[in-house]
Amino acid sequence: MILNIGSAAKTEMIDITSEVQKAVSSEGIDEGLCMVYVPHTTAAITINESADPAVKQDILMVLGKVIPWEAGYRHREGNSPAHIKSSLIGVSQLIGIEKGRLLLGTWQGIFFCEFDGPRKRKVFLKFM
Ligand code: ZN
Repeated sequence: MILNIGSAAKTEMIDITSEVQKAVSSEGIDEGLCMVYVPHTTAAITINESADPAVKQDILMVLGKVIPWEAGYRHREGNSPAHIKSSLIGVSQLIGIEKGRLLLGTWQGIFFCEFDGPRKRKVFLKFM
């Protein structure tokens, strides 16, 4: 299954938890695993707090400080920081499914991370 995502900013984290849960429900999966995967080199998937939006702002702020836009990068496309952030955060997450629900903690959400937007993006969902 594919989720289509439209990012609206250069860098942002988009909560896709409800879309992933909808996919689990529509596939009728009761027990198993859901792999959430981005087929992109300047995007990522992470799981973190979804209750307070300040958390994702803080994550992006610190990533931006650790991996600045200007640092004498060699990659000519000019988006090396986005590639580095993608590799650091990672392109997939594996989430358990129990009784038809994603096994997430109370405060956890699944985030698509855009590091070189705005772009049209895809998220692949695979169920096991
Ligand atoms: Zn590039």
